[in-house]
Amino acid sequence: MIDVDLVVVGGGLAGIAAALDAADAGATVTLVERRQHLGGLTWSFRRHGLWFDNGQHVFMRCCDEYRRFLDRIGAACDVVLQEQLAVPVLAPNGRRATIGRSRLPAPLHLAGAMARYGHLSVADRLRLGPAVAALGRLDPDDPALDRITFGEWLARHHQRPRAVSALWDLITLPTVNVPAAEASLAMAAKVFRTGLLDTSDGGDIGWSAVPLGELHGRRSAAALGAAGVEVVCGARVEQLRPVPDGGWQVVADSGARRWQAASVVVAAPHEATAGLVPVGTLPDVQVLGTSAVVDVQLVFDRSVTDLPFFAAVDSPVQFVFDKTSTAGVTRGQCLALSLSGADRYLGTRPEVLVGQFVEALGRLLPGVPRAGLVDAVVTKEHAATFRATPGTAAARPAPGMIAPGLAVAGAWCATGWPATMEGAVRSGRAAAAAVLAGTGAAHPPSVPSSRPGSGSHMRDVAPGRPRRRHGQAHASQSGAGRVHAGQSGAGQSGAGQSDTSQSGASQSDTSQSDTSQSDAGRVQAGRAGSVSQNGGLAERRPVPSPQEVP
Ligand SMILES: Cc1cc2nc3c(=O)[nH]c(=O)nc-3n(C[C@H](O)[C@H](O)[C@H](O)COP(=O)(O)OP(=O)(O)OC[C@H]3O[C@@H](n4cnc5c(N)ncnc54)[C@H](O)[C@@H]3O)c2cc1C
Repeated sequence: MIDVDLVVVGGGLAGIAAALDAADAGATVTLVERRQHLGGLTWSFRRHGLWFDNGQHVFMRCCDEYRRFLDRIGAACDVVLQEQLAVPVLAPNGRRATIGRSRLPAPLHLAGAMARYGHLSVADRLRLGPAVAALGRLDPDDPALDRITFGEWLARHHQRPRAVSALWDLITLPTVNVPAAEASLAMAAKVFRTGLLDTSDGGDIGWSAVPLGELHGRRSAAALGAAGVEVVCGARVEQLRPVPDGGWQVVADSGARRWQAASVVVAAPHEATAGLVPVGTLPDVQVLGTSAVVDVQLVFDRSVTDLPFFAAVDSPVQFVFDKTSTAGVTRGQCLALSLSGADRYLGTRPEVLVGQFVEALGRLLPGVPRAGLVDAVVTKEHAATFRATPGTAAARPAPGMIAPGLAVAGAWCATGWPATMEGAVRSGRAAAAAVLAGTGAAHPPSVPSSRPGSGSHMRDVAPGRPRRRHGQAHASQSGAGRVHAGQSGAGQSGAGQSDTSQSGASQSDTSQSDTSQSDAGRVQAGRAGSVSQNGGLAERRPVPSPQEVP
């Protein structure tokens, strides 16, 4: 007997988007998530009274579906979006340039910034124009583009190594999560065309003003609850069994939990999905591989920069974000150093990374050597994204039906996008639409017709304007990342609790993560002394004792 119209496996953005669309169309939906929190790869944890995200997340104005998703879960007011793209790019010894746009129509909107980009020689700047024009003519869906790397293509278009490291990789690394030398040209063409070249404002950057556990986890839990979706956290789905009369039996927790569903959307990471769905229904997704993101998060006893975020060249530092307000720091400053394509850092001890990056940051920001390091956290997400190298396009199935009553979703599916929040939401919506089309259910209600996140909801920040900190403490947001227990009795949990925690385990102030996927939350152990020795920096107070997480 059918218990429910749809079971969604996985409570990341893809699964949440699928569940909301199906519920909005009138389906009865149960969402099953193995962790204690919703939000998947976007989550937060609490340490010493502050909130830390598992990794900095940004989006662009062109991320229409993600921005609609924020509207749908009532979170558009919790993000900021630049009025106009402006990324300060710092180099050691005070050199600074900006990647930005003017208000001219595309592609002229980038011409001024390219001409003035002082981290490149005049000769290198002159070579940018023809390459940008050629990039704008590429069709990201052309299979031939998935046969070569972006780096090869750039070299063919006379981009020298300096231009690749000081400009092209600044955009490729954080969006594709591998450097140009490894990235599929198809993925890079998608990012550059949609984000920067096709429209003048598509690349304006947005980010969350609250912890991710609040933005996605808590807001989604509320939206799902209001839509009538049963959310069961802390339950790992282990088997999907076809039912002779149609539909699927979903088995979790060694058979302790079962649901009989007319349809299932599996919105888990690609490796987990391959282990759940019948053999032969997916291409060989193992070739998608993984690529890591590492964040080094530093709390200083004073402010060291007025910039809300910046990028760096000639430095191991890639992007730095001011997290003071979202962390809840009331005195001093919290910075998150986000490192993409970061596999090479996975084996490095947290205290070593902190030492290296405090030193490198000190070369970019003169205030750092004079500041005291109050706390530091290193998060390592081993499988932040799939590895978007040439040849991966064929291994990405379209989101949607792979067998009768069975659909897949996830940022790893063929959405046209790299593994991003936008891709995740798109995939979830596509899977829900496919399931609903199969059942003849009503189509999902149309999303707001106005430009998503526009108007009064989303906060705009003017380019280059330093963001004033107002010491907004999030101690009151102790519910961030918590999930309402579904009927099945899933317990509440603190943000970022491990899969291995018991359902309903006490709320945790620490970060834990599935160690098979992540070292997130491993806390830097080092003392100021090591930083001082390595970096020749001013003596610092010891940072608090390490809290090693399993
Ligand atoms: C540190 C970091 C930084 C990033 N930065 C950005 C950024 O700046 N911009 C951007 O757009 N994207 C960024 N990304 C990528 C983005 O977070 C992901 O692409 C997106 O969140 C993936 O969503 P998803 O729903 O497809 O998958 P996931 O978030 O992986 O969700 C899948 C869910 O399925 C659950 N699950 C797995 N197996 C089972 C099972 N057997 N039973 C039940 N549940 C199961 C998992 O626990 C998980 O919650 C970043 C990722 C990381 C880690």
